[in-house]
Amino acid sequence: MSQTAADRYAWTEPGVEDLGGGVHRIPLPLPMDGLKAVNVYAIADDGGVDLIDAGIALVPARERLTAALRELGYELGDIRNFFVTHIHIDHYSLAIELRKTFRTVVSLGEAERANLIATREMVNGSGNRFFGIDGLRRLGAAELVSEMSALDRNPPAIVDWEDPDHWVTDGTDLDLRTRTLRAVHTPGHTRGHLVYHDAAAQIMFAGDHVLPHITPSIGFEAAGNRMALRDYLVSLARTLALPDARLLPAHGPVTGSTHERVNELLAHHDLRLAETHQAVLAGHATPYEAAKAIRWTRRQRPFSDLDLFSRLQAVNETAAHLEVLAIRGQLTRELSADGTDTYQAAPVAS
Ligand SMILES: [Zn+2]
Repeated sequence: MSQTAADRYAWTEPGVEDLGGGVHRIPLPLPMDGLKAVNVYAIADDGGVDLIDAGIALVPARERLTAALRELGYELGDIRNFFVTHIHIDHYSLAIELRKTFRTVVSLGEAERANLIATREMVNGSGNRFFGIDGLRRLGAAELVSEMSALDRNPPAIVDWEDPDHWVTDGTDLDLRTRTLRAVHTPGHTRGHLVYHDAAAQIMFAGDHVLPHITPSIGFEAAGNRMALRDYLVSLARTLALPDARLLPAHGPVTGSTHERVNELLAHHDLRLAETHQAVLAGHATPYEAAKAIRWTRRQRPFSDLDLFSRLQAVNETAAHLEVLAIRGQLTRELSADGTDTYQAAPVAS
């Protein structure tokens, strides 16, 4: 591994990072190639520990969490609360599993209800077999559907998609023993995503809303959300309206400023909106065609070089950008005879 790559993944090394004030970062392993690990944050006091996010319900993650808590002087049974940022399997599922054994209370954003229902339908075979598969035809990406059906679709973990104990609403103040966390609804990555902001300590548990190294995926969720990017841009603006804070992300190292990273993410989406607009003006009318005309990742790779999962996300992201361009009046959308969304330049106002 090159020096840069080694540095880039230093945050995934097993251990416990003391962030001060009783807050500790605990990276837990993931079986997904791209992400490698998820940060769980422990907020400890004399009586027990509250956790932000939970990790995936797999033995290596559970063992690592057990070892990390032991290092801090706690057992799994000392966990009082899981404050989960969003429904994704790498954040939610271990909380549900541990609740079967311990008296842990699990909290999740109330707008994730739709995703939980859609996920259960997906698992039971009555809805989408996989996120977005039905929508891919509408995006002009039917050829990806056939590639998908050849895939091994075993989920990374077997999960009981049970309800949380509490559905948390926007603006709720969570009174912990050592601090108060405000739950702030930040839809976009998923429709019910929450960040937990401690204004007094100037820290933000940002989940996947703001990540230091990568651009969070948008609207990759069981219930789908055509307006995911519009929602996300509003959530980024909302984050800027809160006081600046240290960024405690779910994937990646802790960094100094939420505002700094939010500004970078806004600039990224501005650029991507301009590229997507240009692709349509050059005649790439469907989300799939436009995605193929754009360069991807920070290394500017062509679409055809991406793995299948990344191509799915790229089409999804392109569709989200096209919808924002349509909302802004720069493009118009029509449904073609075969049921595909097509975009064209908006007529110039006279
Ligand atoms: Zn996520």
